[in-house]
Amino acid sequence: MNLENNLAFARALDEADELKHFRDQFLFPKHNEKEFIYLCGNSLGLQPKVVSEVISGQLNRWANHAVEGWFDGSQPWMLYHKELKTLMAPIVGALPEEVCPMNTLTVNLHLLMVSFYRPQGKRFKIIMEGGAFPSDQYAIESQVKFHGFDPKDAIIEVFPREGEHVLRTEDIVAKIKENGHEIALVLFGGINYYTGQWYDMETITKAGHDIGATVGWDLAHAAGNVPVKLHDWNVDFACWCSYKYQNSGPGGISAIFVHKKHFGNTELHRFAGWWGYQESNRFKMEKGFVPEAGADGWQVSCTQVMPMALYHASLQIFKEAGFIAPLRSKSIALTSYLEFIINEVNKSVGEEQFKIITPKGSDDRGAQLSIIAKAHGKQIFDGLMENHILGDWREPDVIRLSPVSLYNSFEDIYLTGVTLLDVTTNVLKSK
Ligand SMILES: *Cc1c(COP(=O)(O)O)cnc(C)c1O
Repeated sequence: MNLENNLAFARALDEADELKHFRDQFLFPKHNEKEFIYLCGNSLGLQPKVVSEVISGQLNRWANHAVEGWFDGSQPWMLYHKELKTLMAPIVGALPEEVCPMNTLTVNLHLLMVSFYRPQGKRFKIIMEGGAFPSDQYAIESQVKFHGFDPKDAIIEVFPREGEHVLRTEDIVAKIKENGHEIALVLFGGINYYTGQWYDMETITKAGHDIGATVGWDLAHAAGNVPVKLHDWNVDFACWCSYKYQNSGPGGISAIFVHKKHFGNTELHRFAGWWGYQESNRFKMEKGFVPEAGADGWQVSCTQVMPMALYHASLQIFKEAGFIAPLRSKSIALTSYLEFIINEVNKSVGEEQFKIITPKGSDDRGAQLSIIAKAHGKQIFDGLMENHILGDWREPDVIRLSPVSLYNSFEDIYLTGVTLLDVTTNVLKSK
């Protein structure tokens, strides 16, 4: 399709968009009474309008049933997580028994590494992307120390080539092969938070298995954004947060994936708690931990009903939208349009003021574009904010903009371009 930089064109795309009505299900932040164009779903998704009703429903259950709420009624808290399993599974390409909501993301990374990072002899290293999200770096660093290793010896980071911003799959695979006998665990983020690069998860998973390593993924920026097939790709484990592309609210619940092939392995270490105990016998309160089958066996503490209720409400919207495929089609179109509009701004400014470091092809990215301004990036970002465009700024020099299928429109993108050009022209003139 030939894209056009005008309002009528953007509105025609919105008119044809079958998901356009979902926008009405969300609350948009405001500044001086005017709503923002929200391009920050990569960091914190918007609040679904239904959420306050859902939460007050749970507060009422608590008020009216108190402890009996765990067992009574049509949605006993004891079984509440099970509904979420069914709704989450299609989003990450898993079987319901392979996923379970619990804890928060970094905590789950640790718990899963307890089970799946098992250094033995020469095979003790973890390979990861250079420039991973800091929490993942700290978690991995502390895990290798916990096993008595120096992170300098035990962690291999893969960096882009000189002068490049993103990783080449061939370089990742080569690095895995090169260190084949020493790698215990391959652990990458599905989409890098800074560059927006979506790694070739299937190829990397296979490369890890070919050298005899375990392979895990942090899907913080991938879950609810791009289609992943954790089960079919034979991924060993994964985890994600639900407050970014899945709109479950600040500090929202995380979830884990453990491939079914590991269910029969009784040798796996876990940091156990009562909620991971075999469900049918949990309340016998007996000595000696017996895990529940499947991902549920990794639960530690009792069901976090409120955060799960938020996630549940949001997952219902995904279900209504047809889960990931329709959202992804629109997302590809939205992000391509944003890319086009930014290049239009460059043309009007007369030079490459904005360099998009996120890969060009849809197969290598999700919703997010990461943009480096040639000069005065922070000032331009502040100007966008002042004019009701809310993206985010990542030090030292990146503006991240992420249009989200459930609540962004093509008109949002067009208007972002108009404002970006305006703000940039003013900033450059004042210099
Ligand atoms: C957002 C994000 C986190 C956040 O972790 P929390 O434990 O939820 O605070 C961790 N890792 C990655 C890759 C992220 O993108």
